[in-house]
Amino acid sequence: VTGTAGPLLGCIEGGGTKFVLGILTTDRHVLARHSIATGDGPDTIDAAIAWLRSQSMRLGPIAAIGIASFGPADVDPHSPHYGTITGTPKQGWRNVDMAGSFARAFGAPAAFDTDVNGAAMAESRWGAAVGQRIAAYVTVGTGIGAGVVVDGVPLRGLSHPEMGHILPRRHPDDRDFPGICAVHGDCLEGLASGPAIAARWGASLSDLPTDHPAHAITAFYIAQLCLSLQALCEPGRIVIGGGVSLTPHFHERMADETARLGAGYFRGKPQHIIVPPGLGINSGLMGAYALALDALGTVPS
Ligand code: ZN
Repeated sequence: VTGTAGPLLGCIEGGGTKFVLGILTTDRHVLARHSIATGDGPDTIDAAIAWLRSQSMRLGPIAAIGIASFGPADVDPHSPHYGTITGTPKQGWRNVDMAGSFARAFGAPAAFDTDVNGAAMAESRWGAAVGQRIAAYVTVGTGIGAGVVVDGVPLRGLSHPEMGHILPRRHPDDRDFPGICAVHGDCLEGLASGPAIAARWGASLSDLPTDHPAHAITAFYIAQLCLSLQALCEPGRIVIGGGVSLTPHFHERMADETARLGAGYFRGKPQHIIVPPGLGINSGLMGAYALALDALGTVPS
């Protein structure tokens, strides 16, 4: 790979438990890849910069940076706090300036968005949602979130969407669990994220027997997000990733339940549009890469 022509892109997938780092070419070759455990903000960013710098010494200068991060975060490019983690309860991350830290370290432009917006961009450009005007990427893991892209551009309003915090109808066999969302209790994330499943049943979904009621109850809640996405914007694909989605038959269950709740009303057939990531575990890093390409577009040639 030495002698590779073209600019190099520094890509950072900032997750709650780990950061995945990569240096890629503009034709999507991964020249180097590494992951580090997520500690507090300054330590994690320092470690990420140190690794990227060591690789850059070997491979060449980094021309642009993309960061696809956990949130809540400021994703407004016109804001003075663009690229900053905002109201997180996460230790050592509040008001940490992610985009600015990387941009200053490498003297390069940095584009920043949420992990799910990034993954939605990547899946619609290169993955399971290629050719779809509207595509959604949902993560079901430590938290629940979703990003939506329209013609390749992620939805951003006053801030990024927070679809994990919709309030679902309660399952008849799940009346008593109060939910674990620190803000809303029994919002979707409070009822169906990995930690909510662990709090209710003492195990991860994939460790529970296939006939355990947890599967149907979780599907009932996640399907309500899929149904809401259909009702709100009729995406051509709803790509579902995240740790909980690795449970065997997860996507089939979500599709069947979404079809049952939707009662045939919507144009998209859930069994067709609800799919696993086409980019597999690389959706997140490729999301950062999509953002880095955007950042590169801002470099005067
Ligand atoms: Zn909530």
